[in-house]
Amino acid sequence: MRKLAIGIDIGGTRTKLGLVDLEKGEVLEMLISPTETKDSDKFLEIINSGIDQLKTVAKREQSTILGVGFGVTGFVFDDGMVDSTYGFLDFMEDYPLSEYIEKYSSLSCRADNDARVVALGEALYGIGKGQNRVLVLTLGTGLGLGFIANGKFETSLPYAHMGGHISVGRTDFKCYCGKKGCLEALVSATGIVDSAKRMGWEQKYPHLELNVQTIFKAEQEGNVDAKEIVTEFLAYLKTGIDNYINLFAPDMIIIGGGVSKGMKPYLDKLTQIDFLPPYKSYKVKIALSELDEHSGILGSAALFN
Ligand SMILES: [Zn+2]
Repeated sequence: MRKLAIGIDIGGTRTKLGLVDLEKGEVLEMLISPTETKDSDKFLEIINSGIDQLKTVAKREQSTILGVGFGVTGFVFDDGMVDSTYGFLDFMEDYPLSEYIEKYSSLSCRADNDARVVALGEALYGIGKGQNRVLVLTLGTGLGLGFIANGKFETSLPYAHMGGHISVGRTDFKCYCGKKGCLEALVSATGIVDSAKRMGWEQKYPHLELNVQTIFKAEQEGNVDAKEIVTEFLAYLKTGIDNYINLFAPDMIIIGGGVSKGMKPYLDKLTQIDFLPPYKSYKVKIALSELDEHSGILGSAALFN
């Protein structure tokens, strides 16, 4: 019988639920809905109805579901309690997510930090497969950090979930966390758009929609302001990667999330990094995620691997 699990990736804007074949690393069915961020009852309703739909699919396939895995922002304890969501999902603070889901679905529930489950998905089923030490940076609304060693989380709890907030020395603006100079506030999609705003992009280019992909496209077409933004973005990302290499010594760094979709032309600028190698023969591969939006679903389902 196939080993199936449900993976649920609760993103800042979209919630994705998937039925996953754990051996093949395949998403058999996927449901997407906007993330309910205000009303906890409505949030549970959406999740529970999705679980019911996926249970029906599993039944049709004559397979049983091992459990429901969640990837959620914040610090997630091993009993499924969540805190420190920094305003992204206020009702999740001190929220017994696993308990609620288990009660409704009669399925076992495991939850972990969203960036950590993305990393698990990449390391088990993505381009990180076969690598020992895999660090995954998710550049989306924020900068998520997940580290996998030999196919498993290196720490039992997400102690490094604020790892995007390492300081890179800028002091001229504040990050939402309250500190100044956080890497996340410079290299996430939000950070890149904020950099553009600081240089007056909206006044200069009122006809262009302001988002990361527009900026990358303009850079490729030779726009000088876009070039400045991208150069700054890459320099800070490089500093961040240098720091992470010194802390984790990864064999591979995978960059995922919305920002990574436009990063192919810049990848070769990140391979010749002037970093301090942890040992003489140390080599690191830097790659872009190829799982696209499946990594969070696969990784959260893989909590039942
Ligand atoms: Zn910060």
